[in-house]
Amino acid sequence: MDKLQLKGLTKKFADLVVVGDLNLTLRAGEFVSLLGPSGCGKTTTLRMIAGFVTPTAGTVEMDGRQMSSATSSLPPEKRRMSMIFQSYALWPNMTVEQNVAFGLKMRKVAKDEARRRVGQILDVVQLGHLAARYPNELSGGQQQRVSLARALVVKPEILLLDEPLSNLDANLREEMRSEIRRLHNEFGITSIYVTHDQSEAMTTSDRIAVMNRGRIEQIDDPLTLYTRPKTRYVAEFIGRSN
Ligand code: ADP
Repeated sequence: MDKLQLKGLTKKFADLVVVGDLNLTLRAGEFVSLLGPSGCGKTTTLRMIAGFVTPTAGTVEMDGRQMSSATSSLPPEKRRMSMIFQSYALWPNMTVEQNVAFGLKMRKVAKDEARRRVGQILDVVQLGHLAARYPNELSGGQQQRVSLARALVVKPEILLLDEPLSNLDANLREEMRSEIRRLHNEFGITSIYVTHDQSEAMTTSDRIAVMNRGRIEQIDDPLTLYTRPKTRYVAEFIGRSN
């Protein structure tokens, strides 16, 4: 079953084509990475899917329903999607519990129900004991777990992750990488993971879309990309230049 479809998705800033005629279909439950060097249009693509950026042309569809086009756009909070950022984007003046509860409050979920769901999700990300702490009292890895909890507590169908591990040190990155994949499986979500790190993409993804200057150069499962790169660019990016 198709969950998300990008059709001819295009974004120009002035004369600069940042994303050009991008086509991509994700099946429900898939974990797909957008992989490519800095500036190739990954974040802009993700922001168009989330509804933060309006496309110049093309459409974003979820379950066959149009979310975005050049002329109409469903607000981000009305899409069943959550986005996670490199910078965590937690509110410094709120506790862990309040940060996670915020999205539920916005959606007017009853207090008791909200408390139950926040408690549950904090247990899932192993942060129950830190519920009353503030973000600046947590390590980078713990802060990113809070943003994962905050994203998941609203029960999204699609999770959008924008370089979520780049502020973490190498050991923690590996741990969080498997944590993210575990949560993806456990919650039965469809995920898009933006990264410039090929090893990160290779170990987490069902499929990888290798991007070059706003376009998808090749999309395949990690093994196929590695053994049968279609272009020199893909071969070099994936780490096989011969
Ligand atoms: P990536 O995530 O692959 O690093 P981005 O999508 O962030 O790439 O950016 C792609 C290109 O679009 C870059 O050249 C960037 O400078 C440009 N860009 C992104 N957002 C804007 C904006 N709001 N205004 C003008 N240019 C932008």
